[in-house]
Amino acid sequence: METNSKKLSFEFYPPKTDLGNEKLISIAKDLELLKPEYFSVTFGAGGSTQEGTFNTCLALKDKTNTVPCAHISGVTSSKEEIKSILDSYLEAGFKRLVVLRGDLPSGVGGYGDFPYAQNLLEFVRSVYGNQFHIEVGAYPEVHPQAKSADEDFINFSNKVKAGADGAITQFFFLAEAYYSFMERCEKENLRIPITPGLITITNKESLLRMADNCGAKIPQKIIGDLDGLNDEDVTKYGIDVLTRLGEDLLSYGAPGIHFYTINKLEPTKAIVESLGL
Ligand code: FAD
Repeated sequence: METNSKKLSFEFYPPKTDLGNEKLISIAKDLELLKPEYFSVTFGAGGSTQEGTFNTCLALKDKTNTVPCAHISGVTSSKEEIKSILDSYLEAGFKRLVVLRGDLPSGVGGYGDFPYAQNLLEFVRSVYGNQFHIEVGAYPEVHPQAKSADEDFINFSNKVKAGADGAITQFFFLAEAYYSFMERCEKENLRIPITPGLITITNKESLLRMADNCGAKIPQKIIGDLDGLNDEDVTKYGIDVLTRLGEDLLSYGAPGIHFYTINKLEPTKAIVESLGL
């Protein structure tokens, strides 16, 4: 396997406290030694962490040598609000985005000016041309709200046609889901890099909760194996599972791996080192 050309990226969420910010920069400095292409920073639904995203990107830009990539979701926002955020990103020198729809916060009635990620992507391209490098979300196991797998795929392909430069997948554990998705992209001539997103395993309950929220399938074997393990052993087990999954995906031809780090250093670092990246 040729691993040198494989690209790595690490995703963080904006910490809520000064201590959290300090810890994140220290983790980012360690992860930077693994030579990632970028650090991405999530964006809270309904505006809860818009400032957090900006401030975390700014801190990463100032304190590390790795490019920040700001997520932005259109849910509940107006065109004016999105434009004001993107103007501030450009002014700060942030040129990479992950463009998403986001999820409607409970109790909020409507999606606003951007019902789907495609609408937000078209808006960004129409206002800013190619000033931003844009990734979008992809769902090898199908988005949980999709009417059907076929419609979900068409919706994904519309994001590619609307100008996405690349895509990052929702996390998954079954490599076959990625292979089938890639074969379909190949058949439909969708040629952008589609990077598998992998989540580290550090706690069984939180893993099940996250998978439930986003529709990821966790193999029964993993659920059974995690039973009765203490946190340290869960983490070790997760490193093993994710290393094997990463090896399979890279051997298949994945362009790299995007890690949902959950703002933790160790499982991610150990997996990357085991993969020899
Ligand atoms: P879309 O691509 O708009 O798809 C959403 C649903 O609508 C799908 O079921 C799709 O089939 C359907 N659909 C799309 N277009 C149409 C259309 N024209 N007509 C009818 N149906 C359509 N969430 C956050 O809040 N903050 C983050 O920072 C964040 N980061 C993420 C990063 C990655 C890599 C991924 C994969 C997800 C992330 N999410 C984040 C979660 C994401 O917001 C949710 O999965 C959300 O439910 C869908 O977002 P999307 O951009 O994929 O939506």
